[in-house]
Amino acid sequence: MTQHIDTIAAIASAPGAAGVGVLRVSGSLVPAIAQTLLGRAPQPRHAHFGTFRDTHGEAIDHGLLLHFPAPASYTGEHVLELQGHGSQVLLDALLRRVCELGARLARPGEFTERAFLNGKLDLAQAEAVADLIAARSQAGARAALRSMEGVFSRKVDALLQALIALRVYIEAAIDFPEEEIEFLADPAITRRLDSLRTQLGELLREAQRGLRLNDGLRVVIAGRPNAGKSSLLNALAGSERAIVTSIAGTTRDVLRESVSLDGIALELADTAGLRDTDDEVEREGVRRAHGELQRADAALLVTDAKHAEADLALFAHLPEGAERLVLVNKIDLANATQHTEIRDGVRWLWASAKTGEGLDVLREHLKQLAGAGSGEGAFSARRRHVLALETVRDHLIRTAHALTAARAGELAAEELRQAQLALGEITGSYTSDDLLGAIFGSFCIGK
Ligand code: GDP
Ligand code: ZN
Repeated sequence: MTQHIDTIAAIASAPGAAGVGVLRVSGSLVPAIAQTLLGRAPQPRHAHFGTFRDTHGEAIDHGLLLHFPAPASYTGEHVLELQGHGSQVLLDALLRRVCELGARLARPGEFTERAFLNGKLDLAQAEAVADLIAARSQAGARAALRSMEGVFSRKVDALLQALIALRVYIEAAIDFPEEEIEFLADPAITRRLDSLRTQLGELLREAQRGLRLNDGLRVVIAGRPNAGKSSLLNALAGSERAIVTSIAGTTRDVLRESVSLDGIALELADTAGLRDTDDEVEREGVRRAHGELQRADAALLVTDAKHAEADLALFAHLPEGAERLVLVNKIDLANATQHTEIRDGVRWLWASAKTGEGLDVLREHLKQLAGAGSGEGAFSARRRHVLALETVRDHLIRTAHALTAARAGELAAEELRQAQLALGEITGSYTSDDLLGAIFGSFCIGK
């Protein structure tokens, strides 16, 4: 006797007219629905050509029927795929028919949610399915595919195993209080913890890169009014999106532009000029520019030869870890040539937003920051993954402190337990229903 699972159905192809449209069904009723629609039992994983009919025997459409019996299917349940003509009217009629036969409409992401619940995918892999569908760049799609294949999850699991092993070791010591002090001073424990922290640091960096590949590098273009920020945004975006004028202070709000540089995604934001101002609206713009900088992956300070050093003060508003670039603009006026150098660890470039001279070098640097050339193994990640890894990092720092400074075994074990929980959230080993709802609710229907 197999367990009864309610049967869900949805149109899996995008709305609108198309050559082919796909309807997907998953659940216990699939074999019966397939048999009714085909007029006989379908062979597993074979494409059957047939006429799909309504209750009165009237033809709805001709198409292909595929049956994937449980558990070797996307959801792990019986799955039926119907491929008909890509007409909204026909697909709606076919969906109605399938529902008459006992299926109900699927919620967004419900197929993938079932795949997760049935152990076909872990949470990070399921999220990668949605990221793959939504990918806006070649590099982003490649990275999402790797995460879907489990590249990220396997690294998380390896770290989780090492973490659990260390935790068990320390918990065991606590059970023998007379030996605890000596035991915790054992350099082998410190070595294992150090190696765990190194491994985590590596994974965090890779995940940060994966986040950029997935979401696009968030570049905030900032600088004093008239420096040439809007001109630069337009040059990079290849359009006249921002208004360029010679009156200081025209860009009052934040303008955004998605740009793909050779298959690498960038999210550019052109901020209001940063200066003290009496104009209410402009002041609001400046306030937003500071807010924008707080969320930046990279800040591109646009300046000119005369103001460059003074304008560096702007970097004070940047979050830790954000990349810094200085663009000395208007070299066409200064009679200078394009070049680039590193000053105090910050990349400086000389260019002209007007003539385009030097902008290729800038594009190349932005591409590198956005994750280009991050190698074969690059995988995609989400912000919640990066935040979870940062939480793990903080708990490991406190574990080290508990062991060395305080020699407190109980504390160290508790920190490791917290680290384990945070790490497990990535793949869904420990997950609240709220989190699952938020993740799968953001999928499209039929996936
Ligand atoms: P923003 O206030 O920083 O956004 O500056 P804009 O992009 O609006 O440019 C202000 C003025 O400087 C406009 O008249 C632009 O045409 C001019 N400008 C911008 N970049 C260059 C450049 O590289 N060379 C020259 N000669 N003028 C520029
Ligand atoms: Zn502007």
